Amino acid sequence: MNGDKNLIIEQITIVGGTHGNEYIGPFFIRKAEQTNIYQDNPIVVSTLLANPEAFTQARRFIDQDLNRSFSSDILTGNQDQHECQRAREISRHFSQGLSQNESGQHFIIDLHSTTANMGITLIVRNNEPLNLRTAAYVQKNMPETRILLSDMDHVQHQSLNSISRFGIVIEVGPLPNAVLRHDLFEATERVVDLVVKFLTLSKTRKEPKLPDEVTVFKFREKVPYPRDQEGELTAMVHKDLQDRDYRLLETSHPIFMTFQGGEIRYSSEPGYPVFINEAAYYLEDTAFIITDKVEASLK
Ligand SMILES: [Zn+2]
Repeated sequence: MNGDKNLIIEQITIVGGTHGNEYIGPFFIRKAEQTNIYQDNPIVVSTLLANPEAFTQARRFIDQDLNRSFSSDILTGNQDQHECQRAREISRHFSQGLSQNESGQHFIIDLHSTTANMGITLIVRNNEPLNLRTAAYVQKNMPETRILLSDMDHVQHQSLNSISRFGIVIEVGPLPNAVLRHDLFEATERVVDLVVKFLTLSKTRKEPKLPDEVTVFKFREKVPYPRDQEGELTAMVHKDLQDRDYRLLETSHPIFMTFQGGEIRYSSEPGYPVFINEAAYYLEDTAFIITDKVEASLK
């Protein structure tokens, strides 16, 4: 592992409102701007409200999901959907921000919430050691956080975070859409603070000592909802699965209850479900995501 990668982080951007109905991010940004908390930080910390129009309307998005709109097709195209235009603006914003310092890199902290019972989750991509080390530092100081490893962004989704190699997504829940909760807001503040602290220490002094390895939940597959030939839902998430994010799901345990009253059981290899019954994922036909619990080396 190359520890020198830390040294090139020159800017941190805290992004909120990528989904306009996830309120913690936008209000976090408002508070951070009012209180100027990172004014004198050795690494420049700025904020960005990603989708102000969607936030004003308390909607996840206006025309399409902004967090699935950072494909090269869209970034180099001229599609006029609101989020396509916004993705191009945000992409320009980041590339302009870096022009003053070409060797500098942006670290993006993207703030989200989920209706699923996931507690505090740090989502990092597989392929960048600095992101995982940052998450490990947060977990060392907040043992209740969990780390979710995912490369979905690059392969399928083209998320906002994919603009930079360096970044982390903070997901907190359970939180209904367009609602604030003090405890989860505070948890988000603690995580952001630790991320900024870790990157700043890594740049200005010595990277804090981390464990040799860390437990992570690694994306395996999405589990779709049962539907009929017309595409209508035929079942809901089973009560025995509801809220059991990060708890081992064994083969043959019930996962859905049909509207006829029949149980549908899990037929794959045991795994750890996350994003169980996430409201936004009905649109994407994902009832939950199965992960594998593995150890990841930080060396
Ligand atoms: Zn979100």
